[in-house]
Amino acid sequence: MMADDPSALRELEHLNRLYAMLSGINRAIVRSDDAQSLFTEACRLSVEEGGFAAAWVGLFEPGECQPRVVARAGVSVPAPLCGSCGEAVPCPLRAGQPCRIDDLATDLRAAGSHDVALDAVLRASVALPLRNGGELVGAFGVATGPAQAFSEADLRLLEEVAADLSFALAALHREQVRIADQSRIEFLAYYDAHTGLPNRALCERRLREATARGEHLAVLVVELGVFHDAARLFGPGGAVLIAREAARRLEAGLPQAGVARIAENAFALWLTGLPADEAERETAAATALRIGELLAPALRIEGQDLYAAPFVGIALHAGDGAVEETLREAVVAAGRRHGTAAAGYCFYANEMANSSLRRFDLDAALRRALDHGEFLLYYQPQVDLASGEVTGAEALLRWNRPGVGLVSPLEFIPVLEGNGLIGAVGEWVLDEACRSCRDWQELGAAPLRVGVNLSARQFRDGDVGAAARRALGRSGLNPRLLELELTESIVLQDADSVIRCLRELRGEGIGTTLDDFGTGYSSLSYLQRLPVDRIKIDRSFVTDLTSNPNSSAIARAVVGMTHSLGMTAIAEGVETEGQLSYLRRLGCEAMQGYLFSPPLPGEAFRTLLRDGRRMARSDADPAWDRTLLLVDDEPNVINALSRVFRRARVRVLATTDPREAFELLARHPVGVVVSDQRMPSMSGTEFLRRVKALHPDTVRIVLSGYTELGAVIEAVNHGAIYKFLTKPWEDEALRAIVDEAFGLFELAQQNRVLTERLAALLDPALPPPGRHAAVQRPH
Ligand code: C2E
Ligand code: CA
Ligand code: CA
Repeated sequence: MMADDPSALRELEHLNRLYAMLSGINRAIVRSDDAQSLFTEACRLSVEEGGFAAAWVGLFEPGECQPRVVARAGVSVPAPLCGSCGEAVPCPLRAGQPCRIDDLATDLRAAGSHDVALDAVLRASVALPLRNGGELVGAFGVATGPAQAFSEADLRLLEEVAADLSFALAALHREQVRIADQSRIEFLAYYDAHTGLPNRALCERRLREATARGEHLAVLVVELGVFHDAARLFGPGGAVLIAREAARRLEAGLPQAGVARIAENAFALWLTGLPADEAERETAAATALRIGELLAPALRIEGQDLYAAPFVGIALHAGDGAVEETLREAVVAAGRRHGTAAAGYCFYANEMANSSLRRFDLDAALRRALDHGEFLLYYQPQVDLASGEVTGAEALLRWNRPGVGLVSPLEFIPVLEGNGLIGAVGEWVLDEACRSCRDWQELGAAPLRVGVNLSARQFRDGDVGAAARRALGRSGLNPRLLELELTESIVLQDADSVIRCLRELRGEGIGTTLDDFGTGYSSLSYLQRLPVDRIKIDRSFVTDLTSNPNSSAIARAVVGMTHSLGMTAIAEGVETEGQLSYLRRLGCEAMQGYLFSPPLPGEAFRTLLRDGRRMARSDADPAWDRTLLLVDDEPNVINALSRVFRRARVRVLATTDPREAFELLARHPVGVVVSDQRMPSMSGTEFLRRVKALHPDTVRIVLSGYTELGAVIEAVNHGAIYKFLTKPWEDEALRAIVDEAFGLFELAQQNRVLTERLAALLDPALPPPGRHAAVQRPH
């Protein structure tokens, strides 16, 4: 019938061109990774596919009334065809409204540009606002020859193009933020975020570079005595202010020295090119005194005067030996504030006899410790954030020193590393951890894993793989339940051989976790090469996760990157509910920290397992309570549908592929499914029939441009479908129906829980049925 009506045919042809343009632009959105190329492509497609005479994209600039054109195609129009700038009526674009001009020859609003347009035989134009997030950022416009050329249908399609471009802008913006986060991680690998000074890693590198040139070197470490008091009085913010002010004074006052922040309360300065005689000591001592002067004037915090109370430790490097050792010596000297005090500084050499004596003492005590069974392991539970279940524990070494009590590993592990005992102690840790872990298996519901920390020296001195295999053999533990925790410094010392060793271990099923992530060199390219399964987000980022945007940006980037590399993330040092729910929202998989439990002695950890203790699920985030799944083979439709629910308190999952939909259903608590009927791989009714079988609680809706009533009605009768809707849909009606469907889903959930409780009451011997069974065990 249409063939007889030339105008209807033309209209059909015209709409087809617009659809082709729309889908072309959507493809361009998927492909492009910067806004400019996307705009250029959208203009080209508007002219070549859409058949418009001209197309343009403009961006608003501060103070400017008309958007500045950044991309165009077709007939060249010097100014965008919109707006009545300067006239009494303000341009609707500026108010975020479409601006449609039916005839430029008569429409006064186009006063500014219609002469030019007429010369170019353009008479009708439409301009539509572009937004980034909610903010108006620019406009997309097309123009064409005849007056009155734009129908309502055209306008709707063009609005869709503008909405898609806006959506892409927001996505590109997010991508830019993500890239910025990544470079921030790289920055933090070498710099201290609070002062912008080099951190310890970069400081060591600079020192190595200087000694490589054979230079004599003095290293001065300044410890601020006030720091911890300030942190206690004014919180971490106060401590940061002190660090910043101290950094500023040191940098400005000693331009000839290198400065780095090597610890919260300590800075390192180094002087290069010193003469190799007594003058070297004098220069260093004079610099130490200068540091004292620079830091002497009071620091003002919240109206209060604080005195930095600096003390300087000095160590000299004569151009041979490891310069890291010189830095450590200066740190030791800086710690000798008491006893030497008067001068405000001391040289490492003066302290040598004294400290090596103490070292000798500790050394001998640690040698005895292993033989006398003074070492023990504590276990800190690790919890899966989705299920709340304990999935394993990290083994943490303790030394029960006679006459002293429990000693922290931070104090004695460096000594074990120094005297080579770490190999033997490390093997004992592996043995003990594997044995305990095998015993846990009878106590927990699911298999439990144990994490064991390794130090760099263990890798350097011995065969870690062989030690792990021996421990597994002796205990009979399944290799999949052992997880080795390593730090970046381990990998850095001999990347190739460490990576080879880790590959082998992984081949045997042993897990690997990268510990302290974000505090070391953390180069992303490096991470890609590392055979690790898990990344542990360091406690220093978790501590101020909810308050410090830097930390949250890093945590977000780390989790995102971890997932894109196919690894999972665990956060350590989680102490508050706030940190927990934030980590959940970031998609972090697991956690450990005082919030759930501190490290526990072996017996206490077994009790926790026996009691079936688990973490309560959070109800704090109702926004995630409703999960909607959209399935349609056309990406356009998915985009449009997603937009309908953008502002609703619903989490939207979407896919163009029914097979992937089953994956999503398995992984997420989907309540309502909306599916297209016509899909190439499977019809909507067939798909929903299977969904009904697999996930009977879901409420299912079919959306179809082709009301194949037979199939649909049959599906409704079989209970596979709750409702069917026809395309095009009314946004408001669709939202209402989906809302109603969620209501139904929730009602069914509540019913199920009640039924289960009832069943459990009637027959306590029976475990509660179904996947919503209460997992909490009786105490
Ligand atoms: P790590 O591997 O980063 O261990 C985490 C540290 O954070 C543990 O300190 C743990 O007790 C503490 N921690 C856990 N949750 C929280 C929390 O919520 N808040 C706070 N403030 N702290 C929390 P720990 O046990 O003193 O261990 C210190 C370090 O000693 C470990 O750091 C690890 O590097 C090393 N270490 C411990 N055991 C071994 C071992 O068997 N072998 C080796 N080579 N190193 C070990
Ligand atoms: Ca660890
Ligand atoms: Ca750690």
